[in-house]
Amino acid sequence: CGITGYLGFREAYPIVINGLQRLEYRGYDSAGIVLTSTEDKLKLFKTKGKVAELKKIIENNNSTGNLALGHTRWATHGIPSTENSHPHISNSGNLAIVHNGIIENYDTIKKELIKRGYTFKSETDTEVLVNLIEEVQLKNNCKLGKAVQLALTNVVGAYAIAVYDISKADEIIVAKLGSPLAIGIGENNTEFFIASDASPFIEYTKDAIYLDDEELAIIKLGKKIRVRKINDDSFVEPYIQELKLNLEQ
Ligand code: GLU
Repeated sequence: CGITGYLGFREAYPIVINGLQRLEYRGYDSAGIVLTSTEDKLKLFKTKGKVAELKKIIENNNSTGNLALGHTRWATHGIPSTENSHPHISNSGNLAIVHNGIIENYDTIKKELIKRGYTFKSETDTEVLVNLIEEVQLKNNCKLGKAVQLALTNVVGAYAIAVYDISKADEIIVAKLGSPLAIGIGENNTEFFIASDASPFIEYTKDAIYLDDEELAIIKLGKKIRVRKINDDSFVEPYIQELKLNLEQ
């Protein structure tokens, strides 16, 4: 399974679909992409099966946009199916998420959200998480980064996630515990890449941050990346490392 994403000035789709192909070696049963452009806030494509099939579906559609998240799923909660594939969208239609890993206490959280009026299209733990983030944000009237942090303090499990608000679309929040997540930084913070490993973005930038467990990063266009701890309110200075091309065995 894998995650990849792009936020910047280039067309996101080619970067993200190639990124998904590079992450295929990690194994998966379904794939999907969400894209946002200024004219068209939400373009969601997903399917059971190979990235090549996803590519075929998208080929005949408009795939413009400078922000995209891509996902390959290895089902843990819910059968491999188009409905259960990621990305997942929150009830309001505002938040998009991709997730690798498992939310172990998703059932308890889901019951609580259902009591509060939430409905679910899939059987996944991931759709529960995106709606928990939405509920936390509505209750606290806070920024998305804070809402993701608060939501994650209620979660037991493992995850690498990327979330954005499609009505804003200049910011991606990522967080990790157990599953890997790398961020590529373009010149002067004009573009950002995210991925399970650096292979999807090594041709675009050599500057990367590997998030540690229990860290959350706020990736905002034109700004320096801010990294904070999930379980307390402290910020950490991110270590930006230089990627090296490995051309010899
Ligand atoms: N637990 C999530 C699901 O079943 C994510 C699985 C994955 O890591 O791809 O949808």
